[in-house]
Amino acid sequence: MQTPLRVLFVEDSEIDAELTTAELKRGGFLPTVQRVETRPDMEKCLRDSEWDLIICDYLMPRFSAAAALSTLKASGIDLPFIIASGAVTAEDAVSLLKEGAHDFMDKGALARLVPAIERELREADVREQRRQAEAQVEVLSQALEQCPASVVITSPDGNIEYVNSYFEKASGYSASDAKGRSLGFTLQKEEHEHLMSELSQLVTEGQRWSGEMRSIRADGEMFWEYVKASPLMNEDKSVSHYIVVKEDITVQRDYEQQLLRQAHYDDLTGLANRVLLVEKLTQALQNAQQNNSQLAVLGIDLDDFKNVNDSVGHSIGDTLLKQAAQRLSSCIRSGDIVARMGGDEFVLVLPLLSDAKNAELMAQRIVQKFSKPFNIAGRQYSVTCSIGISVYPDDTSDAHMMLRNADLAMYQSKDQGRDQYQFFTEDINRRLVERLDLEEKLRNVVDNGELALQYQPIFNLETQKIAGFEALVRWPQADGSVIMPDSFIPAAENIGVIQKIDEWVLASACRETAPFLLSGDDNLCLAINISPLQLEDPGYVAFVMAQLEANQLEPRHLELEITERVLVSDAETTDRNIKALTELGIRMSVDDFGTGYSSLGYLKRYPLHTLKIDRSFVADMDVDDSARRLVETIILMAKGLQMDVIAEGIETESQQVLLHELGCSQAQGYFLSRPVSLQSLAQKISAQNSNKSPPLRLIK
Ligand code: C2E
Ligand code: MG
Ligand code: MG
Repeated sequence: MQTPLRVLFVEDSEIDAELTTAELKRGGFLPTVQRVETRPDMEKCLRDSEWDLIICDYLMPRFSAAAALSTLKASGIDLPFIIASGAVTAEDAVSLLKEGAHDFMDKGALARLVPAIERELREADVREQRRQAEAQVEVLSQALEQCPASVVITSPDGNIEYVNSYFEKASGYSASDAKGRSLGFTLQKEEHEHLMSELSQLVTEGQRWSGEMRSIRADGEMFWEYVKASPLMNEDKSVSHYIVVKEDITVQRDYEQQLLRQAHYDDLTGLANRVLLVEKLTQALQNAQQNNSQLAVLGIDLDDFKNVNDSVGHSIGDTLLKQAAQRLSSCIRSGDIVARMGGDEFVLVLPLLSDAKNAELMAQRIVQKFSKPFNIAGRQYSVTCSIGISVYPDDTSDAHMMLRNADLAMYQSKDQGRDQYQFFTEDINRRLVERLDLEEKLRNVVDNGELALQYQPIFNLETQKIAGFEALVRWPQADGSVIMPDSFIPAAENIGVIQKIDEWVLASACRETAPFLLSGDDNLCLAINISPLQLEDPGYVAFVMAQLEANQLEPRHLELEITERVLVSDAETTDRNIKALTELGIRMSVDDFGTGYSSLGYLKRYPLHTLKIDRSFVADMDVDDSARRLVETIILMAKGLQMDVIAEGIETESQQVLLHELGCSQAQGYFLSRPVSLQSLAQKISAQNSNKSPPLRLIK
């Protein structure tokens, strides 16, 4: 097969050009030729067409080989340039070869021409490939230089031979500082040793390696790098270099650390949070199991912290929590774990306990620490704590159960008067199971229509007539027993069904008793107990009004009983609701008065109508002089504030007489009447209306 060949002749003799062309054809080429004999023509041809080869005469009338060669050089094109001439001296030929001509031959002896061309074409090809390779290397080295990551090239033993400019920027070391030093010279010592040993492993396995490392900048600042190292292999499979690419991942690392911290530590106090505590407790329980030792979990809850938070604000509350955390931390020994579980709840884990007695000593120490008031912004706040203790292996070996048991024991401490500790016991457990059971059943009491109402008449001690009645909720059971409100209202508040219950009570009581309230001219009043949560509902006033309207009742027919707890809570919605209700003409009374808070400021703040003296004072008043004086004081105070007084829990005639003497206007109690069914209430009221009502003390 003939090889196409594009030949540019620089030749004044057409015949010579043809002869040479014929020689080329003989040699197996398929030549396309063009002949020029001046510089401008040659320049044009080089510009307009592509060539494989130039065959040039030595001397021409208007041109020369030397001039043609410089024309070719000036064009920048790399072409084999062969001089074919009849008359040239050896010196001239050598000087032209030095100038860049590729070969020289006699026009009369062209036998060498074809092999020479073949050789030159091959060499031109090699030159072209080399040029391309060089261009590629140039691009690659530019890429390395401009790469937005540190690139380091080392010898097989890890000595730096090259660093790019990003490395200089990131590490603060110049290329000349870095060259010749060990690859990991910016790393911390241990990490350096680790990296180098991993790299040597890499050599034997011929694999890549990557990992995160801490480096130290020239200015001493620490930063994180993601390091990828790969060996460059020789043909004989030995390592010629390492290429190491390093990315600065400090920002990501910081972010990860922050997330990790947030996930495991409490922001406010810096203590471990629930997640970390459970992790550590699980670990500690395993250790205790292996070492046959004991372990204690102390559940710690601040007493009345909510009051501080609600009354003086969250910022003081937060400071108090921080100080509480410090007090707890100051009690523990190394190895103990202290965590904040949320709110005012803390947990202490005492691992590898030799004796459960030590847990008790710790609990005593904490209770004692909390007996001193907290000093915040110049004021003192007394906040004690209640503690529950669960011990492994006595109670359980499960972390969550340990926490739950400690929690239950802590609630027991609260129930028993706070500011103390309790160990978890089976009895506590049984009560919990009962409570959970009760709560479960409570969720649907309203929907299942399981509740019922009783009414306890309230008497006017002056007229001896029924002035009103208090609705009291009951939960009759299938076995005929009845669960009383004291046993289920707290649980209902706990699980959030109290509102539903109280709404049912209000709606049912209004509906059931509307006929009595509207009949006769006795100005009877229906008293309803409401939970503090009701008053936190912005829709509560509208709900109450809707119940009154639905039964054609007026605001004066209703008295809502709230506890002192509500009045000091200082919640905005509660405040607005109380004011709106009283403005509408609904009466509001303070139930169980005297058992709550010492501050009486709220009595001035709200237009309340009635104080209901708690039955504990009434119970003692005919035997205990100070109780009697207390009741007397309450009655006087109420009068001063233009409020009505109702004495609760009258059980004897002497109490009734005494209260009447002290000026108490109304009373309720077993001596006057127990809470009764709607029917009995109806009978009592109609008997009274028809003047058949017996004297007060006979109503039982
Ligand atoms: P309370 O509002 O102070 O109601 C008076 C409680 O004292 C009633 O108990 C009543 O039966 C009892 N009592 C009345 N007279 C005497 C007496 O002479 N001696 C003795 N020992 N007790 C007497 P009850 O019905 O068990 O209610 C207990 C508490 O449960 C109520 O105290 C009230 O705070 C709450 N409660 C009752 N019904 C409701 C309700 O519908 N909603 C809410 N949120 N709480 C309710
Ligand atoms: Mg009441
Ligand atoms: Mg009461």
